[in-house]
Amino acid sequence: MKLVIMGAPGAGKGTQAEIISKKLGIPTISTGEILRNEVKNETPIGIKVKLFMEVGELVPDEVVIGIIKERIKKPDCKNGYILDGMPRTIAQAEALESADIDIDAVLSIEIDDKIIVERMSGRLFCPECGATFHKVSAPPKKEGICDVCGKKLERRKDDDPEKVMRRLDIYHSDTEPLKRYYKDRDIYMQVKNREGIEATTKVVFEALGI
Ligand code: AMP
Repeated sequence: MKLVIMGAPGAGKGTQAEIISKKLGIPTISTGEILRNEVKNETPIGIKVKLFMEVGELVPDEVVIGIIKERIKKPDCKNGYILDGMPRTIAQAEALESADIDIDAVLSIEIDDKIIVERMSGRLFCPECGATFHKVSAPPKKEGICDVCGKKLERRKDDDPEKVMRRLDIYHSDTEPLKRYYKDRDIYMQVKNREGIEATTKVVFEALGI
């Protein structure tokens, strides 16, 4: 399956993408996570995108398109992949199409803006391995410490309330038009985010028929 998972920041798309990835044995490609690694490692790409990311703006289309084109060539993508956080604009969707990067299905996780800001204040991530946690809904076993690699968890700089508001605005203006784009191609589905990860996974699996 070649799946795009979309949703506002904080809708739980990264979490659900990981769960689907385990179930289907196909990799999740998260442009946000790849970019955060580039920033951490101070690569030329990282230096270029750092400011955009910190303030919650989208990074230039050509950067993410270049990243995806390289990533998709790796052998683990031969049976499918889940794109998490990509495409984020119509231009990116068109670039995927012209690069022959196929998409069979697009699943959007719908959530009210009101819930998002509240929810994002509890989000934590591991700067070392990228694992994500939430103070309330998915707490680490030991407070503030990554279950996977034992490093100290951090808050993403772009999870501050005013940055979240900006990211939401961008989602509505630049990313949501993709719904129509993929509806026109007959591959669009949506589910409502539920209270709790498992309840959301249930509706996600139902929609995907897995
Ligand atoms: P995410 O982890 O998906 O919330 O992405 C975090 C940040 O990375 C976004 O706010 C953007 O600055 C950048 N980013 C990730 N994916 C894309 C994309 N497809 N297009 C542009 N910017 C992106």
